[in-house]
Amino acid sequence: MAFYCGTVLRLDLTRLRASTEPLNEEWARLFVGGKGLLLRYLFDELPAGAGALSPENPLILATGPFAGTIAATCSRLAVGCKSPATGALLDSYVGGSFAPELKFAGYDLVVITGRAPEPVLVRITDADVEFVPAAGRYWGLETAVLEQLVREEMGPGAKVLSTGPAGENLVPFACLSTDQFHKAGRGGAGAVMGSKNLKAVAVRGTGAVTAGDTAAFTRDVLRLQEDRVLTVDNAWTYEEGTPFLVDAVSDAGALPTRNWRTGSFDGAGTINSTTLLGIRTKLRACMQCPLACRQVHQFEGYVCEGPEFETLGLCGSNCGVSDLDAIAAFNRECDELGLDTMSTGAIVALAMELCEAGAADYGLRFGDTGAYLRAPRLIAGREGFGAELALGARALAALKGRPELAIEVKGLEMPAYDPRGTFGMGLGYATSDRGACHMRAFSAGDDILGGEGAADSLAGKAQLVADQQDFSAVAWTGIWCANMAVDTDFLGVHFRHLWGRETSHEELMTIGARIWNLGRLLNLREGLRRADDRLPERILSVPHPDGVAAGKVVGAGAFRESLDEYYRLRGWDSAGVPSRETLERLSLTRESGSLDLD
Ligand code: SF4
Repeated sequence: MAFYCGTVLRLDLTRLRASTEPLNEEWARLFVGGKGLLLRYLFDELPAGAGALSPENPLILATGPFAGTIAATCSRLAVGCKSPATGALLDSYVGGSFAPELKFAGYDLVVITGRAPEPVLVRITDADVEFVPAAGRYWGLETAVLEQLVREEMGPGAKVLSTGPAGENLVPFACLSTDQFHKAGRGGAGAVMGSKNLKAVAVRGTGAVTAGDTAAFTRDVLRLQEDRVLTVDNAWTYEEGTPFLVDAVSDAGALPTRNWRTGSFDGAGTINSTTLLGIRTKLRACMQCPLACRQVHQFEGYVCEGPEFETLGLCGSNCGVSDLDAIAAFNRECDELGLDTMSTGAIVALAMELCEAGAADYGLRFGDTGAYLRAPRLIAGREGFGAELALGARALAALKGRPELAIEVKGLEMPAYDPRGTFGMGLGYATSDRGACHMRAFSAGDDILGGEGAADSLAGKAQLVADQQDFSAVAWTGIWCANMAVDTDFLGVHFRHLWGRETSHEELMTIGARIWNLGRLLNLREGLRRADDRLPERILSVPHPDGVAAGKVVGAGAFRESLDEYYRLRGWDSAGVPSRETLERLSLTRESGSLDLD
């Protein structure tokens, strides 16, 4: 199989044993790679109802077939498991260079099971796999220090995927880190790695990826790079990066501000891309990426990549903080400790409102950076007020008797686009397979970023959201970066080399729908139902007092109708269960046969 290594590496941590097996070729044909293969393996490996932090929950690392080639942006890694934040499926993506190195070592996927009796670090050098004791040497280290130490030991070419102190302490929104600043951020994969007594997986590979007709593949990829990648549409990535969104989203009244109480931030001008460009020192890129969107900045006393837009929104405006150095310091703490900045910022903002409402006394105040800057370390260590914040927004708000203040879906804190300023994002969050996520459907592009959609209407959004979800699912088999504007024609050029035949828009979107429906089956098996495809009451019925979106709410009735339409378009019943016809059309009858969905 050109492009694939054809091998899955299994790491049984309970027995400290490594083994290999052939990649399931039928699954590779149906689900391709990345998100698709990740979910298919997860579907088989995860016992129904297993606890997210139990040894039964596998942690799966999946590459795409084009990792290790020159295909633009395809160096990304998919990480998956059952999420400790949501109880739903988790697939999270990270750039850098770990995935190509894994392919060079000879593996398409790594399936990590069980729990090590004592903390370990796994070293992979081609076929050689070592379980190295981590206690006293690696366990407890922050992510950048750990990575540097492992590189000193294995050589500078080693790639490291690690959990930080937050993951060791099982914080449900702990992330995984690689190449220092790259994070598989959302949903708590860092806690799952920590629960396995696994500090990190480090890999070095000396092999190569075969591309079939290498000359023709290279020719096509370089042509696409010229015609479709280095274009005006993608220039924002290296010109400003994601911080350009601060002004655009605030101007649309959709920038979460002071725990989602309004959508326009009066401090946006000090945390926007204009300010960041003034301190930008250089650009960096993930391996295989000519776009180089990673903006490196000089802050007071240190240099780092980011903050990205989501961090600026959730750790900045949503906390009422307009001090860019403070946001960067908060970001750095989260990075080093292995915390998802998005969830951490959202939870700190919630805690600020709880303090303001008299429901808590953490010393956290909107706009005040004192306790704010101490929060990440206290959360990661589960110390002081951090012990309560480490529960996550839903559990924290419930604990304090104010569940309506948690702005989350399925337990995952909401990204930095307020649906009251871009209604379609609400439907996308509600129906996202891993909880509130802006990466699977991004109707804000049509609503507020130059498209022709109506920001304050759900008309037509059900179809848009379903199409975008299916497209993202097939694009993440690749795994192409969501920052790059591509379509099925672009993907099809690569698939022609993968399969040795032409493909079509319909065929690729069917693969996307198959993967999306497999995720639905998995979530239904884990007990999620229509009631989980919801939006917070504040988003549905409490309007902003000011800004462009003032007075607007998504509305419970309009949302219900849109969800009904979305289910109908998907071929699901009114409870959100895929029909037999839908599953047959998508070749998922075998998977559904093992489920009791009544
Ligand atoms: S666009 Fe940015 S995040 Fe995406 S692959 Fe390129 S450098 Fe990495």
